[in-house]
Amino acid sequence: MEKLLQGVLKFKSLVRPSLLSQLEKLAHKAQPRMLLITCMDSRLCPTSFTQADPGDMFIMRNAGNVVPHNQLFGENQQSPLSERAALELAISTGVKDIAVCGHSDCKAMDCLYHMHDTTDKEKQDSETSWVSSWLRRYAQSSLTKFEKLGVPIDGSSEEKDNLEIMFDKERDLSDVDKLSQVNVLQQMQNIRSYGFVRNKLDEGSVQLYGLWFNIGEGEMLLYSKTRKRFVVINKETGLSS
Ligand SMILES: [Zn+2]
Repeated sequence: MEKLLQGVLKFKSLVRPSLLSQLEKLAHKAQPRMLLITCMDSRLCPTSFTQADPGDMFIMRNAGNVVPHNQLFGENQQSPLSERAALELAISTGVKDIAVCGHSDCKAMDCLYHMHDTTDKEKQDSETSWVSSWLRRYAQSSLTKFEKLGVPIDGSSEEKDNLEIMFDKERDLSDVDKLSQVNVLQQMQNIRSYGFVRNKLDEGSVQLYGLWFNIGEGEMLLYSKTRKRFVVINKETGLSS
């Protein structure tokens, strides 16, 4: 907490003076263009990595940047889940872009990855863990897709976009990092499962992107549908897909 308080004081003396006029304009009106869905990991600083300003984006964070698929709620369509509420708020506010951002060395993905080889005893233990329950319930589909790598990451019948992924041999990603990239694509499919988002995507008024941050290299990657892989963002790759 001491570091946080020191940071607030530093902000107040060094940053606030130059930011105040911008904040005054935003005080009663903001028109963010983007909803960024990312992991709660402490090493991810999305506004720093994207150089975003106040008012630029909504940010929704949880363990593993997961957006539960709409079908998982069955008949309980009114389940008040924060991820669903965030999507609704962002769409109703008029965002133009939605991006899911995963990252390397994700502890949530590590937990998910090890679910496929757990013993019965470990399974019992994990049932008392909320993180395990969260991932088992809402991210199992990512693990299933990962285990079928090479097979197109397709969605259910209402999801017309099939997202495929290939991995560069030379990049030498760990299995957990590969799962993390697959998970980003799965969450993009899950986002499409919400009719009010899918309508916007289909009419082209909202665009959907997959991002992945390599922590050790400090590089942000963008999913390229044509190249079927995440590519480092630079002046050449830009937003080309
Ligand atoms: Zn993470």
